[in-house]
Formats: sequence, structure tokens, C-alpha cells
Amino acid sequence: MSCFTLAATDGAARAGVLHTAHGDVPTPAFMPVGTKATVKTVDPDELRALGTRILLGNTYHLHFRPGEDVIAELGGLHAFMGWDGPILTDSGGFQVFSLRDTLIASDDEGVTFRSVYDGAPSRFTPELAAQIQTTLGSDVAMCLDICPPAGVTRLQLEDAVRRTTLWAERQRDLPRAPGQLRFGITQGGLDAELRARSSEELVPLDFDGYAIGGLSVGEERGPMFEATTAAAAALPAGKARYFMGIGDPEGVIEVIARGVDMFDCVLPTRTARTGSALTWEGRLNLRNARFARDPRPLDEACPCPACTRFTRAYIRHLVNQEELLGLRLLSLHNLRFLLDLVVAARQAIEGGSFSSWSADALARLARQPEKEPAA
Ligand SMILES: [Zn+2]
Repeated sequence: MSCFTLAATDGAARAGVLHTAHGDVPTPAFMPVGTKATVKTVDPDELRALGTRILLGNTYHLHFRPGEDVIAELGGLHAFMGWDGPILTDSGGFQVFSLRDTLIASDDEGVTFRSVYDGAPSRFTPELAAQIQTTLGSDVAMCLDICPPAGVTRLQLEDAVRRTTLWAERQRDLPRAPGQLRFGITQGGLDAELRARSSEELVPLDFDGYAIGGLSVGEERGPMFEATTAAAAALPAGKARYFMGIGDPEGVIEVIARGVDMFDCVLPTRTARTGSALTWEGRLNLRNARFARDPRPLDEACPCPACTRFTRAYIRHLVNQEELLGLRLLSLHNLRFLLDLVVAARQAIEGGSFSSWSADALARLARQPEKEPAA
């Protein structure tokens, strides 16, 4: 059986199901990021209650701390972190190439860098990235790819595409954990010709799904969405498409509209750490003085633990006093906001009303909250 079932389409937008060894994932799917085998401050039972269907783990971080062998000895990543649902692991490539000051050299065999933990010289090869993910036992493993930052030369982009294909070929048939799926990653930045080339080279390798990589790395949004349209259209309709690293509400809606099925981002928890809440009236900065006596919940319609029990005034107090509960409540709310957003998108796609739903949602999100005086 194919690991992806397409259930409905509306324009380019898709509703489907990704079938994994730890359960089915309805798509569009937002994947909260559990960088170090934890979604910061949130218990796995809470993640489940919020509506999380799949988590993302970071191969780079888990390889260095505590190490994949320790995790395997304790039963694999699912048992280790107390989450029995699907897990996708990235390949570590994004960290290796984005933590720029740590990169030493890369060649066709692999990439040499300094670990962010202790500065020790380390090396990732496609084979090692696959082996770590097999040892972790994730449900979806990603290929090690070359993800250049925005603004590199065409020659550098072209070389990233070439090497990404070379590495994908080497990873395709490596040993996998039981039931593990493996996704290829297309590159090419904003260059239409190179994006097409990357897809043409990777699609015949017949991966279980495909990621659109090398976007959301600091480029302008208009061209990024244009590249997404082309990149998604170049992938097979019968396989899941994963946009790596987008999680703002507007961005999520825009990539769903272009035929993307899955995405991940640290945005909900990172936004919480800055004391902000995602809402339908834009982002609320709880540090702002206008919330000091505000008796309303963050969002009147939100069923999350923060909104059903606490006022903006209380959460503002917690944030200002750097109380851990404030960070937790904002994390729970922001995750719920995004998880509910993709459920609503799916319903709109199934009902054939995605274009009016998304236009309405984008208009609501664009509405500026009342002008805030300085906090
Ligand atoms: Zn809420």
C-alpha cells in the first residue's frame, strides 16, 4: 500500500493521509519541533491533547546529546521521549550548513564541521545521517542534503543540487528502521530551472515522499512562494510534500494553497519565549501595558488550557515575572492555534471552499491589532 492517500483536492490544495508505522497523519499536518527530544516545556500527553499528530526530532542534536546509541538502548526515540505517535527526523543537514561558523569543509563524500556542543571536529556523511535516524527509529527519515543560505551564486546553487542528488542516490537503499519511510529533499533555491532539475533527478529515485528544501532561508516571501508553486507542481501527486521550516499562520496557509502537505517550525514555542501569543487579531505581545487589567482570554474561541482558565492580565503578569507557567501557557496556546489552523484548512479543502476560507483567514490575520502604546 502506498504510504500516502490523497483524499481531496481544492485548486492546488490537498487533504490526505500519511500512513506511518506509528499511525496515520491527516494532512495538511503541522509538526511541532522537538529539537532535543522535547517540545520545549510541553508534555507529550499535552501535545496529544492539543491535536498533535506527528512530531519532528533533530538528528544533529540527538546525535551529540545524548547520542543515538543511548536512545536506542532505552528503547528508541518514541520510548525515550514518551511519545508513541509518528516522528519525523530531519537529517541534520540544516544545522550543519546553517550554523555557519561551525562549518569546516564539505565535499562529495560528506561535510566536516565543529559540534556546537563542544567544538569538536565532526563529520556527517549521507550514510551516517541515515544510520543515526535508523538507530533512533523514527517513522520518517530525511535524506542528508545541501541547504545553501539565501543569496548564494547560481554556481553554488547548482552544486548544491548536484550534490543533493548524489547523496540521495547513496541513501535510498540504506538499511531502515522497521516501517521507516524515507523522504528525498529537492533543492534549487529560487531558481526555477534548478528547482525543476532537482525534482527531475530525485523523482525517479522513488522516495516515499519529498521535501521542498532550501526555501524559507532568508529570501523575500513573494519569490519564495512562487518557487514553492513550481517545486510542489514538479512532485508526484501521489506522494506527500513537506515544506521544511515554515510555521507562521500566513505562511502555512500560503504553502497549503500551493499543494504542500506537511510543515514544521519552532515558531509557536519560540514566539512563546518572547512573551507573544498567536491570535486571529495578529500577534499579542503580552508584555504590553494594555493587557495589565485585561480580563479576557488570549483568544475567546480557543479551547486550549491557557484560554479556558486564565486571563491576559494573569499571563502578562507571569511573563513579566519570568514565571515558567507563563512560557508553558503561551506554548500550549500557540501550538493549539497552528494545529487548529491546519484542521480548519483541511475541512475547507474537503468542503471545496479552500479559496474563500484562505482569503478570509489571510484578511483576518493581516488586520492590525489596535495601535499599541509602548510597553
Ligand atoms: Zn488558547
